[in-house]
Amino acid sequence: MARVYNFSAGPSMLPEPVLKKAAAEMLDYNGTGESVMEMSHRSPEYQAIIEGAEAGIRGLMNIPANYKVLFLQGGASSQFAMVPLNLFGIAPKADFVHTGTWSKKAIGEAKRYGTARTVASSEDKNFSYIPKLDKSMFDPTAAYAHITTNNTIEGTRFRELPDTGSVPLVADMSSNILSEFYDVTKFGLIYAGAQKNIAPAGVTVVIVREDLIGKALAITPTMFNYKIHADEKSLYNTPPCYCIYIAKLVFDLLKDNGGVARMQKINEQKAAMVYDFLDNSKMFKGTVETQFRSLMNIPFTSPNEETDKQFIKKAGAIGLINLKGHRSVGGMRASIYNAMPVEGVKKLVDFMKEFELTNK
Ligand SMILES: *Cc1c(COP(=O)(O)O)cnc(C)c1O
Repeated sequence: MARVYNFSAGPSMLPEPVLKKAAAEMLDYNGTGESVMEMSHRSPEYQAIIEGAEAGIRGLMNIPANYKVLFLQGGASSQFAMVPLNLFGIAPKADFVHTGTWSKKAIGEAKRYGTARTVASSEDKNFSYIPKLDKSMFDPTAAYAHITTNNTIEGTRFRELPDTGSVPLVADMSSNILSEFYDVTKFGLIYAGAQKNIAPAGVTVVIVREDLIGKALAITPTMFNYKIHADEKSLYNTPPCYCIYIAKLVFDLLKDNGGVARMQKINEQKAAMVYDFLDNSKMFKGTVETQFRSLMNIPFTSPNEETDKQFIKKAGAIGLINLKGHRSVGGMRASIYNAMPVEGVKKLVDFMKEFELTNK
């Protein structure tokens, strides 16, 4: 069977060269006679892999020396609890910009450990925009302010970061890390589950400024404490070894292909192909206010549910899979992460054109 174009919101496509390299190294990694899956996480070979992965993301995102990079488990969903547990030692309160399903969960978890204040929300219009923010809205004594840089389900993204003054900005970057340029120094902490732009599900990347480590609440479980993982270089316990290996291959590939700057250009081109079509279509409509449109997740609707169903079915039959939208938005959603080739997006847009012509 030919490979399909997978438009799933996550887990999502991985770059084919990475899959091929992993396959070639599956039974014998680098002359060791074993697979990375079987390898001791304390071996020198594995040490080189995890150090390589860290160096890879540091290079790609230009992460300064006063930030730690952690490879953890539990997904971005665990970070919803881990961030407040670790930062509420500074002050037991944080500010949140509420822009969708994921920020709601982040707020819900933070509330268990302190005060989670919503400073702005786009719930009034089903999260189809990013609220306007200014510095006066943020509490200067809060431990941190939290945003979701890209809203995977609703298809919005922050085009500019809020000015939170001296309050550390914390970002859930799960669905757009490495897809566009970010100045890491603008953040106190960035976290991202791997299964959208980095690797298979199972590893979560946390980039945290050193001065924010070591402030955890006393109730924080050992495995949830950034200090433990920072001190032990993400090897306190057995890490998700194979995921970190794939992440390293993805980072290496990105670096060899022009890094984040080039990726961003390609992502802008890919997204423009879909949005240009939607803006000119009589059948399909984007659901997000133009200026807040995501480069990664594009929700769109057709005139009715029956047409949605037909579209999704026929697309699947020609290898364009997982286009069903999230139930909270309805319709369709095309997730076009870094690993989605331009050809995949072109095939989707061609199919949408043809579908519109033949289903008038
Ligand atoms: C996918 C996603 C999550 C949840 O990630 P898990 O790894 O499944 O816990 C959280 N936030 C955002 C923005 C996401 O896209």
